[in-house]
Amino acid sequence: MKLRMVTGNAHKAEEAQAALQPLGIDVVQHHVPHPEVQADTLEEVARERALWLRGKVPGAYFVDDAGLFVEALRGFPGVYSAYVQRTIGNAGLLRLLDGEPRAARFECCIAYLEPGMSAPFLLKGVCPGSIASAPAGAGGFGFDPVFVPEGETLTFAELPLARKTALSHRGRALGKLAAWLEGNRPAGNR
Ligand code: IMP
Repeated sequence: MKLRMVTGNAHKAEEAQAALQPLGIDVVQHHVPHPEVQADTLEEVARERALWLRGKVPGAYFVDDAGLFVEALRGFPGVYSAYVQRTIGNAGLLRLLDGEPRAARFECCIAYLEPGMSAPFLLKGVCPGSIASAPAGAGGFGFDPVFVPEGETLTFAELPLARKTALSHRGRALGKLAAWLEGNRPAGNR
């Protein structure tokens, strides 16, 4: 089955392809410029974006919205992650955490919609971990150089794509999407 991931971020599409291709789902990146949705939760952002795209994307598609939640900052930047990444970046985040506990988690919410569905189906993935003391690694994107997933000593940016996908918030949400699709589609439509 072919599935469009609506995103302007080629890294996200590459991760989705790595997670879903082995499960028989071929992910195609589909870019549609869309307005920024500002809301209090990743779920609302993903749901609103998926609904806004209805009629503008053919067939089945999904979007993802992700954020980094830092415990010492009471969950900030969370839904403001893109803004923080654009403004103070990883260096600024490390400065904010100087002398603070490092626990953090990534969260990802996927919203899936196909013709005939009245509302998007939402799937959440969480990856616990910590903020590194200094950026490391050249892979990935965004906060990857400063995020160490639980159980690892390397940042997402240092890990191979397959390892990041196996552990990550996005990989976990995508795994749930694949399981849901498997259980909910007529056999002839897989
Ligand atoms: P978005 O709104 O889902 O695109 O992501 C919000 C912010 O978090 C952006 O600055 C992204 O670069 C960053 N981000 C999202 N997912 C990841 C990830 O898997 N690794 C590192 N940064 C991410």
